[in-house]
Amino acid sequence: MYQQIQGITQKPVIKVINTHFHWDHWQGNESYAAQNPKMEIITSEKTKENMSKPDAGGGGVPYIEKQIANMPGEIDKLKADILKETDAAKKKNLESNLQQAETFLQELKQMKPALPTRTVATTLTLKEAGREIQLHALGRGHTNGDLYIYLPKEKVVATGDALIDWMPFLNDGYPEEWVQTLTALEKLDFTQIVPGHGDVQPKGHLAFFRGYLSDLIDAVKKASAGGATLAEMQTKIGDQLAPKYEAGMSKHTLGRYRDRVGQNVEMVHKKVVLKA
Ligand SMILES: [Zn+2]
Repeated sequence: MYQQIQGITQKPVIKVINTHFHWDHWQGNESYAAQNPKMEIITSEKTKENMSKPDAGGGGVPYIEKQIANMPGEIDKLKADILKETDAAKKKNLESNLQQAETFLQELKQMKPALPTRTVATTLTLKEAGREIQLHALGRGHTNGDLYIYLPKEKVVATGDALIDWMPFLNDGYPEEWVQTLTALEKLDFTQIVPGHGDVQPKGHLAFFRGYLSDLIDAVKKASAGGATLAEMQTKIGDQLAPKYEAGMSKHTLGRYRDRVGQNVEMVHKKVVLKA
């Protein structure tokens, strides 16, 4: 990414903003910091905390050791899958994944994580060469520390994983509050969304994504009040919400509706019904 930026401008990167603590959104900070020792890394207060906590789920500094421990197993599995695969295109895809995994493991072993140097409690406005950049912590959602980056003149918002072009990942999330936080985000005047995964979306995507979360919560509450088991709910709700959401949530090879709906049902059941 740094090299791609260099293809557009030779100016130094002076600020990096991490939307939340998940590894795929902040590993790599150190590549920017190495080019400019004065560079600032900005996150919400909670995200900074989460990056250092041993038990913060999928993404802090302690998680790097876990990745290093787990990756050789994943690499072995990819190698076995390549041997078994008969379809040429799929084989090529797996080989590319294997190469990326091996490179990534080497990088992880040498990684010196670059942590936030500045935090935001609720809002912060930056002025960079005349461009206004607002940072907003609007409430809990995908994590307890989601930060939204809003350019009022350009009418663009970058949302991290709190609003994506995939199925949501709920394991570190707060499903009911997430719906409210997205409603707060909707009040900002923007036309384009730069999501944490997938393609740039028009503002209308917010209502679709929020609709999925709130329909999912309602369906899980109803089914569990009716005495359904988790396995029954996973099948029934997956089918029940499919006409409205499957196509829109399955545009990419990752994060597709059928691959995630069962896990989403389980997380909502755990967090909203069992309050665990
Ligand atoms: Zn995430």
